[in-house]
Amino acid sequence: MSQTQELAGRVALVTGATSGIGRAVAISLAGAGARVAVNYRDAKDGRQRADEVVAEIVGAGGQAVPVLGDVSREDEVGQMFAEVRSQLGELDILVNNAGIEQPAPIQDMTLAQWQAVIDVNLTGQFLCARAAARAYLARWPEPPPKGASAGKILFISSVHEVIPWAFQANYAASKGGVSLLMRSLAQELAPRKIRVNSIAPGAIRTPINHAAWGTSQAMAELLKLIPYDRIGEPEDIGRAAVWLASDASDYVTGATLFVDGGMTLYPEFRGAG
Ligand code: NAD
Repeated sequence: MSQTQELAGRVALVTGATSGIGRAVAISLAGAGARVAVNYRDAKDGRQRADEVVAEIVGAGGQAVPVLGDVSREDEVGQMFAEVRSQLGELDILVNNAGIEQPAPIQDMTLAQWQAVIDVNLTGQFLCARAAARAYLARWPEPPPKGASAGKILFISSVHEVIPWAFQANYAASKGGVSLLMRSLAQELAPRKIRVNSIAPGAIRTPINHAAWGTSQAMAELLKLIPYDRIGEPEDIGRAAVWLASDASDYVTGATLFVDGGMTLYPEFRGAG
């Protein structure tokens, strides 16, 4: 458990929290004192893994519950937010994390592959951000007193919101969309004291990109892209999420925090180009 408990008394929802980054973010937020809703997509995909994340949090002295919901389905998102409210109380922090990849050369990419990625990575983030905004605005018809925020929305984007990605046009388009979705909402909601930010991870050791780090040869190729010379761990994102969700970052809104070991720093120029 974190010593400072900077999120004590807060309620957080982390989407796609059964694996990888979402799991680590849920554990980090709970370690900082938040009561955390651990979202899983469906019984087949994740109830057991959601229960394991909840058990890990509770075992460490924290509070968490599993919540069902496919983020790409409007009806399920509504039910999920209602469930979080009835189980944990009023929401303070949404972490929009759920995401998928479906790579294909553009000439072979099916409409289904395009649509599946946009549905989860962009529309899903819109649906959850809208539900969080509705909850925050209903709770705070007037902005809260100075120095307090009326709620936080945190998008998990990607370095591919700025780095084009061959064979992953659907994924890069979804994350590019998240960039302006996040900034537009930040601009719109700042007067209501709702803070909206993104974390853009670089290469993080999770199942989604196992092929990029699963063998020593793949890892050696990957490290050529990372000036800081190590792969990221899910906990690197967890710590950044705690800061962006806490009052320590109270003046930060509309920002994308790149947590990428320098991957966006044109690594091929590090030896003077
Ligand atoms: P992951 O595959 O380990 O986790 C993805 C999670 O999303 C899983 O829990 C999965 O069940 C959930 N999910 C998928 N579709 C869902 C849906 N419709 N509704 C609810 N949940 C759903 O991958 P990860 O690396 O932890 O990815 C998490 C986020 O981080 C994604 O948005 C991804 O794009 C982003 N990201 C990851 C990396 C990386 O290197 N791992 C880099 C940049 C960005």
